[in-house]
Amino acid sequence: MSIMPLSRRGRRALQVALGIALLAGIGVPASADARDLSRETLAADDGWAAADGGTTGGAAADDEHVFTVRSRAELVRALDGGSATPKIIRIAGTIDANTDDEGRHLDCADYATDGYSLKKYLAAYDPRTWGSAKPSGPQEEARQASAARQAERVEIAVGANTTIVGLGDDAVLEGASLQVKDVGNVIIRNVELRDAYDCFPVWQPNTGGLGDWKTAYDNLWLRGATHVWIDHVTASDGDHPDADEPTYFGRNFLRHDGLVDITNGSDLVTVSWSRFADHDKAMLVGNSDSATGDRGKLRITLHHNEFESVVQRAPRVRFGQVHVYNNRYVVPEGAHDYRYSWGVGAESAIYAENNAFTTPGHVEAADLVKSWNGSALHQTGTLFNGFPVDLLTINNAYNSGSERDLTADVGWTPALHGRIDSAATADHDVARGAGAGRIR
Ligand code: CA
Repeated sequence: MSIMPLSRRGRRALQVALGIALLAGIGVPASADARDLSRETLAADDGWAAADGGTTGGAAADDEHVFTVRSRAELVRALDGGSATPKIIRIAGTIDANTDDEGRHLDCADYATDGYSLKKYLAAYDPRTWGSAKPSGPQEEARQASAARQAERVEIAVGANTTIVGLGDDAVLEGASLQVKDVGNVIIRNVELRDAYDCFPVWQPNTGGLGDWKTAYDNLWLRGATHVWIDHVTASDGDHPDADEPTYFGRNFLRHDGLVDITNGSDLVTVSWSRFADHDKAMLVGNSDSATGDRGKLRITLHHNEFESVVQRAPRVRFGQVHVYNNRYVVPEGAHDYRYSWGVGAESAIYAENNAFTTPGHVEAADLVKSWNGSALHQTGTLFNGFPVDLLTINNAYNSGSERDLTADVGWTPALHGRIDSAATADHDVARGAGAGRIR
């Protein structure tokens, strides 16, 4: 079969035709259209996940451990409780994590138990009557019991030596919180991770001020995870943006936590060509200033990713040596909730090169960086609405007074990376190529 570029519609027609042929039991050779990602491994120099032996995921799987899954039940069966057996899991179409074992959709009312009701919860823990103590008693207990029922469905453990790839250009995992915990060598590519929606946010009061709603789920959570390659993933809140949620107790009733959070001693991670969109807190690296066990870890490379309509944490870093190059940031018109993009946290060592920011007029270059008890930031080649800027100098000139000036010396220089383009070139390429369904 000759290799000809096909239009999106042409590829779709071909996929449909192949799908019909497969359904009809007609033997067809592997599609010339879609590249088979199943056994691909991370290139030898592609960021921190390439260090110390690299990242191969499930490439060594035998034929009995190559699965195509179409439902939560099939996905969970293939993951085998997070076993370390090399395995390749190909997601076909949309998988809804909020389903029972027969595949029936479960909504928040299906999980609610022990008399939980949001109305009663709000009445019980209104700070004006309850005060600033931690919620306790029947409604909080009912919330916890209800939340446990949802967690049992949506928290899905990924084991070592696993590759998860989307088939074609429409693979979606909806409502799930994929969790890579205390294991190594995982690849996740070409899949949309959508709307890890928490039915049962908990109220966290704060003495002397407003509390906050705390939600349970990240679309993908790496904790104690090493050698992880995330590539051409799209992560967003889907049809449930937190901005559309109501305000309770003076605070936005958040339904989502991070898109990809990397915590608890995780190390050697590359996130490439991925798209993070329509979300509040995109990527937390290190979850506490006091988690000093993260020192020397949380080494991460972020390149050719798009952060669009993200309010904050793109990323927020503690402790880690994080190489941030050739990423594209877009703050849309009217995004008045925008807070910052790079959070320079305790002992963080962000090395940023050639990133492009596009923002509306009310966002200033001084807004892009926020120091959270950080001390250093390396940045070069930044473009701000098409113009070169030095975010370090700007940050120090405009810092809030409670922040220390940042120095340019982060104590390391990245060695493992592909070609680093200009910010303008990257901006263009990432707009066309980042996210699920766009591997060529
Ligand atoms: Ca989180």
